[in-house]
Amino acid sequence: MADLEEYRAKRNAGKTPEPPGDKAKKSSRKLVFVVQRHSARALHYDFRLERDGVLLSWALPRGVPLRAGERSLAVHVEDHPLDYATFAGEIPKGNYGAGTVEIWDSGTYELVEEKRDGGLTVRLHGKRLEGTWTLVPAKLDGDPKNWLLIRKRDDVASSRAVRNDYKPMLATLADKLPTGDDWAYEVKWDGYRALGYVRGGEPRLVSRNGNDLTKRFPDVAKALAKAARSPECVVDGEVCALDEQGRPSFSAMQQGKPGTPLVYAVFDLLEVDGVPILDLTLVERRERLEALLDARQKTVQISGFFDDGQALYDAAVEQGLEGVMAKRRGSH
Ligand code: MN
Repeated sequence: MADLEEYRAKRNAGKTPEPPGDKAKKSSRKLVFVVQRHSARALHYDFRLERDGVLLSWALPRGVPLRAGERSLAVHVEDHPLDYATFAGEIPKGNYGAGTVEIWDSGTYELVEEKRDGGLTVRLHGKRLEGTWTLVPAKLDGDPKNWLLIRKRDDVASSRAVRNDYKPMLATLADKLPTGDDWAYEVKWDGYRALGYVRGGEPRLVSRNGNDLTKRFPDVAKALAKAARSPECVVDGEVCALDEQGRPSFSAMQQGKPGTPLVYAVFDLLEVDGVPILDLTLVERRERLEALLDARQKTVQISGFFDDGQALYDAAVEQGLEGVMAKRRGSH
């Protein structure tokens, strides 16, 4: 253990902003952990625990399991230098792990148990992660690199059932725009209403009537999984086709011409990190939504919020659109 040779061998110190990994460091502080979201060729999360002056590291293709008893593949990778715990940034093209590294969670941890086979049970104290996880050298498919990360049942772990039955909020048709400071306005997107579920990093699109739209819009589903900064979340939005002018067009969608750009206009967030947030206000949910979605993923867009409903309505009519949506900022 505590060997950074493989780490250094994989990297060209002059060409990547990552820490060089000169040597293992001693520390007397509390032990730290970090989970980095690594948007590389394949999106994954990197789970790292401080140990003997380095970071023991595993790559999680499906993210951290969040519900008691859930498990996910954890591919053991080379030790990383302790400095890596605060690293976030772009690893340039052509370098090992090229892509974007973001800190998804960090904090301290306690070692609860260490097994003779190397298995570790740790209690994490992070901003998102709080509770007990076990790392098991399970050698899945006979490969010693293939460990399992298991969320333990403890007092913090929710035994919350996975909810796959959210219902989209529906609009009421009105002749007049409601006015007042507590209203916000949005474009009325004209396409297919779709709830976007991400479960263990896997995306699924579900229609208003509960039909699966994932196969119909596979690129949109993939883009959602890439954009979401949580392996367990549920968003609400509309899959739309854009016409030549970039306007949402239902006819462009129905004609389904190859090459018609599709976007997923997302306007609400119902669950994040496995926790339903239906009791937050619309404004609070939208703040969480802004933090959730990676804006570089252009197929998934947050539907804009407008204060001047009349101006938005006039612009919509002029563009030949159906109308606008009015929503109460404080609504649940
Ligand atoms: Mn990585």
